[in-house]
Amino acid sequence: MSAVTIQDLQIILTQPLNQRLIVVKLITSEPGLRGLGCATFTQRFHAVHALLEKHLKPLLIGRDVSRIEDIWQTMMVNGYWRNGPVVNNAISGVDMALWDIKGKMAKMPVYQLLGGKSREAAAVYVHANGDTISEVMDNAQQLLESGYRHLRLHMGGYGGKHPNLVHPDGVPSGAYYDPRAYVRNMLKMLETARDTLGDEVELLHDIHERLHPVDAMAFAKALEPVNLFFLEDALAPEDLDWFERIRAHTTTRLAMGELFVHPLEWRTLVERRLIDFIRMHISAIGGITPARNAAILAQAYGIRTAWHGPHDVSPVGHAANLHLDVWAPNFGIQEWCRFPDLVYEMFPGMPEVRNGYMYPNDQPGLGIEIDEALAAKYPCIDEVITWTQTRLPDGTPVRP
Ligand code: MG
Repeated sequence: MSAVTIQDLQIILTQPLNQRLIVVKLITSEPGLRGLGCATFTQRFHAVHALLEKHLKPLLIGRDVSRIEDIWQTMMVNGYWRNGPVVNNAISGVDMALWDIKGKMAKMPVYQLLGGKSREAAAVYVHANGDTISEVMDNAQQLLESGYRHLRLHMGGYGGKHPNLVHPDGVPSGAYYDPRAYVRNMLKMLETARDTLGDEVELLHDIHERLHPVDAMAFAKALEPVNLFFLEDALAPEDLDWFERIRAHTTTRLAMGELFVHPLEWRTLVERRLIDFIRMHISAIGGITPARNAAILAQAYGIRTAWHGPHDVSPVGHAANLHLDVWAPNFGIQEWCRFPDLVYEMFPGMPEVRNGYMYPNDQPGLGIEIDEALAAKYPCIDEVITWTQTRLPDGTPVRP
């Protein structure tokens, strides 16, 4: 039997909501057989597009679609310099599409190829936000009433906004916040949440690397009575060595990883058992292939998964998250962002969420398609990103 090969690589750019989505479509030599993958790096989508179109497409045409591992390794080393979010996202688009194709050839969902289900559905957490504590509590209550049992609570965007920030004269425009106000306000909000929402609801919080390491450590320690399901991104990837200190001072559960783009970032944390949940953005680490490897590594060390699942993961990427979720014996929780009807229409086969659980369909491959005519009606819009132009009260530029 002759090999099924890659005949074409097409890139679908669409922006149904605020985020620019990049979906890779691989066309094979088998009539009608194609696969989809998520390559979404919303802030730098032109760079990913160019890498796919100009560098990976010529490398891939004619290759045997069955050789996912070979193709993944080849894509990673072909540019000599490796990793990084642009390279990894482009590789992910191809990697996920190859898993989708392999599933369709085997007539099995991708979770079957990984080893089969460990559970019927993945428990999800959703976001409850607001500008004040009472707004956050009202939104949390509504989500509990719609069946969710895990809530990530946040206040004032990513927090630290303050009505009375005093700036020196002449500061540039930007997204300003005060890390000290962040700690005071979030502590009050999370303590109120535990008191008003009760002990049974699972509460999560994301520091989004907004604190100095020593303040993150004090915050994690002060949160112990709130008994979080997890505290996310307490530190920036640049400050990973501080995890050892946080771990030594608190039993608050720690989740880390949506900004990771290199295996050494998670390998060290896992091997030293410094976190409880790995939560990479799967397209930003290169797709299903490295995520599977990271999940298996984490399992050996008693660490669970919690893949990143916001609106800047395309529905194809959410489907990939879910296939890993229902397979991984060490699944922890899945972040879910509640897409509107337009996105369900654009991506037939979207995972279904009922009563706080996300269910895969039993279609072969990733089980998700794209209505390209509808996607074309929502072209990507160029903009200069403002929310990442983050500054401290005195105007110092900092990580968002
Ligand atoms: Mg996060």
